Amino acid sequence: MAELQKKSQCLSDSERTALTQPNKEYLCNICKDTGGSMVMKKAGEKTFYKDIDGSIKETILRYDTEEWKECECVEIRKINRLIKSSEITEEFQKMGFGNFDTSKVVPEVKNMYDAGMMYYKHFDSIRKERINSCLFSGQPGCGKTHILTAISNNLMQKKQIPVLYFPYKDGMNNISANNYARKDEIIQQMKQVEMLFIDDLFKPIGGKVKVYDWQAEIIFEVINHRYLNKLPLLISTELDFMSMAEVDEALASRIFEMASDFTVTVPKNMMNNYRLRKLQGGA
Ligand SMILES: [Zn+2]
Repeated sequence: MAELQKKSQCLSDSERTALTQPNKEYLCNICKDTGGSMVMKKAGEKTFYKDIDGSIKETILRYDTEEWKECECVEIRKINRLIKSSEITEEFQKMGFGNFDTSKVVPEVKNMYDAGMMYYKHFDSIRKERINSCLFSGQPGCGKTHILTAISNNLMQKKQIPVLYFPYKDGMNNISANNYARKDEIIQQMKQVEMLFIDDLFKPIGGKVKVYDWQAEIIFEVINHRYLNKLPLLISTELDFMSMAEVDEALASRIFEMASDFTVTVPKNMMNNYRLRKLQGGA
């Protein structure tokens, strides 16, 4: 925490302003959502073509040629189509740092907001380190998902970093659907994608944490792989360290170690529920 506060002092006013700008009208600022662009290639450069048998072959260009180059956002979109979630909506894509109101929140929520911004600012320098992740825990509805989504949207839109959004409950339903038909494919992506965002990890049902063994095993397999390979995570959860350790102690220690520079816990308390307060007219 002291480390975090030290870091938060180096966020300049202009950086803060840049991060709170309203999101651009395009999901991808590079191709402006066209999926790519025409680029000029010179004679002598390599190019690829599809052979009659469908295989991709390499050749050398004999003339200067204009070619279609696919934008990296196409891959990002492909990855996120993997998990069909009702929560990936336009609303979700609009969640940024600029449209999160910090004026009436408790200090812990303001802390979480600052931590999110700092995490994004330091991302390039920490992403390949062991401690490279961000974890927001505690009170449901206090804005954890909003701020982690703001980080995700900035990573995708400004740095072209693929983020796989895995809403825990829907994601697990996707994995078990049709007799686990897509289990291996989804786990593979969760392990390999450059950034994995697990939203509402081990979400309690009716106040009780109920995690099946197969679910804990999948999460451990994914997180252990990312821990060993120093691949970052964004995690929101209602669980504190102790309740997560009851599900799986090794898993809890891995997550809390990876996020030890950027962990914020908002204590459970109805006043922190900003979704609820909005329903009550912002009172
Ligand atoms: Zn693009």
